Amino acid sequence: MKFNCGPEWDERIITIKPAKKIGVLVSSGLDSTTLLSLLYNNFDSEIKLYNVRTGVNTDKPVIRDILNKLGIDLTLNIVGNSIWQTPMYNHHARLWKAFQEIKELGEVDELYCGNIQSPREAFFPDFKVSSPEFPKRPWLTKDSFLKNPFEHLEKYHVIDLGRRLGIDHIYNTTISCNVYELWHCGKCMGCKELLWGFSQLDNPTSTSLDDLVAKATLDLTTDTTKNHDKEYWNL
Ligand SMILES: [Zn+2]
Repeated sequence: MKFNCGPEWDERIITIKPAKKIGVLVSSGLDSTTLLSLLYNNFDSEIKLYNVRTGVNTDKPVIRDILNKLGIDLTLNIVGNSIWQTPMYNHHARLWKAFQEIKELGEVDELYCGNIQSPREAFFPDFKVSSPEFPKRPWLTKDSFLKNPFEHLEKYHVIDLGRRLGIDHIYNTTISCNVYELWHCGKCMGCKELLWGFSQLDNPTSTSLDDLVAKATLDLTTDTTKNHDKEYWNL
């Protein structure tokens, strides 16, 4: 089944053909919540829910709240209990080991993950690719078990998909913060990427030919450094 998403200036297609028994990873964030809702409401696959443990507390009130509000009656299974104490900079190592653990359990034929494209450094100079907070996601996963159908999407595509699916009210409940589990810090990569996603969708950073000509005039007259683009465009 194909799903279109994104603004008219950057519409993209998601293709999903789930197996009969699938696992879905949920984190309480916007991406995995949207993916779960899409899979739950559009396919007959039997779904098992998984969450990769990252802290002492294995109770997940936000996920419980999300499931209640979306009317999804599934039990959450916590995995990765042997490696949850690894530091946050090893988060992706923790995830991938936990995915392998799920595969070895043999309960599902495929595992769906809501990973999206790594954010563009030009928009997030605070979070360079070398920063521990920058999500080092693979560009493209090709695997018979692990499925990342959102891997080619920016945050604004997922928000738009939620609007098209009529579930965007849940974005008042999801938490996409990298620091806190129960609220948004407003400063981390996850929080900033979320705000950026909404602003790109509703009020995108854009330019006109007049803006470009004004910059060209500056470049040709006063700007001799030839490298002021980032400052000029206020990126
Ligand atoms: Zn945050």
